[in-house]
Amino acid sequence: MFCYQCEQTAKGTGCTKSGVCGKDADIAGLQDTLIIALKGIAAYAYHARELGAYDDQVDAFFAEGLFSTLTNVNFNLDSHIKLLLKAGEINLRTMEMLDRAHLQRFGEPEPTKVQVGTKKGPGILVTGHDLLDLYELLKQSEGKGINVYTHGEMLPALAYPELKKFKHLAGNYGAAWQNQKREFEEFSGAILGTTNCVLLPRDSYRDRMFTCGIADLPNVVHIQGRDFTPVIEKALALKPLEENLGPMTMTGFHHQAVLKIADKVIAGVKSGKIRRFFLVGGCDGTRSSRSYYTDFVRKLPQDCMILTLGCGKYRFNYLDLGEIDGIPRLLDMGQCNNAYSAIQVAAALADAFKCEVNDLPLSIVLSWFEQKAVAILLTLLHLGIKDMRLGPTLPAFLTPDVLQVLQDNYNIQPVTTPEEDIKAILG
Ligand code: SF4
Repeated sequence: MFCYQCEQTAKGTGCTKSGVCGKDADIAGLQDTLIIALKGIAAYAYHARELGAYDDQVDAFFAEGLFSTLTNVNFNLDSHIKLLLKAGEINLRTMEMLDRAHLQRFGEPEPTKVQVGTKKGPGILVTGHDLLDLYELLKQSEGKGINVYTHGEMLPALAYPELKKFKHLAGNYGAAWQNQKREFEEFSGAILGTTNCVLLPRDSYRDRMFTCGIADLPNVVHIQGRDFTPVIEKALALKPLEENLGPMTMTGFHHQAVLKIADKVIAGVKSGKIRRFFLVGGCDGTRSSRSYYTDFVRKLPQDCMILTLGCGKYRFNYLDLGEIDGIPRLLDMGQCNNAYSAIQVAAALADAFKCEVNDLPLSIVLSWFEQKAVAILLTLLHLGIKDMRLGPTLPAFLTPDVLQVLQDNYNIQPVTTPEEDIKAILG
């Protein structure tokens, strides 16, 4: 780990050179956390900005947050903790801004059944998070006999009216980011990477891979100014894809869609048909221990509902989990930035049951991997959410002392086994 204070490489977590610069490992760890969170917030702010949405408070916090991590400027542990909570607040503001921008541009998402797999004919696979890139590609490829597929975090795009109106937006192919190399090799059409979580390509598909916007890969054509002509021409020049259809999945349970069935959900809780809600989501990753999330969801009793978001959903979104009173047990709320939707639903439920969010029959089980997940975790802490479970491992930049503070104040716990955690939550 690199210490931002003494600019030395330190072993293990935090700075082991405490005393060289007068700061300790906890402050170094908190500053790492802040920098990581700022990167996540920046991603959401960038997407919003591309859609014309700005916020002075968000912009100002980038300056304040980064400035506070300069060498020898802030030695106060408490003020670092306050800054982290403020980062959570700013991230909430940013996710809200992005959500508003998505709604204004692409309409209100609606629950949508999605075909998984490929259809016969030329195809383009779009991965990443940028809905505007997808929209422009759909516009430019319309009527050319090309099918466009979503990959990874682009899946929720299929629920937005202004995107799903394109008949050649054919469905979703593949799963989370870590499977890209195998899945892109097997997908024989053109591939477009729009944002983060795009992996260095194998040579086997490098010549049919493209990037745009913030994403850029070595020896891969980078699209300028959202002119996707090279991607379209490549898709048409390649051998057409074979039909290879998989199961259906569902997405589009944005908070506005969930709030439309709020009466039914509330009645389900009051009648005892719905025992508890679980928010299980976040980032996916390569560790085999992430099978925890598949097993956790699979083992939840039939009277429990699952809300999900981010690419962590691919661990279980192919499972048929059934319904409770006509409501699917698994509700995919969207991309990781749609954590904003989960927060809105939790707030609406708390309002309906006249209690605090922490008193709801709701448990949060997060899978973290990268910067956006850290920003979302800080948002949940800013909102005072307690008893979250975090896995598959705890972030290494949280020093033992900082972790203790989180445990004392928020009762954050590492995941254990699905059986133990379900038993501890449900009793
Ligand atoms: S949820 Fe996180 S890990 Fe997954 S694609 Fe989005 S940013 Fe990447």
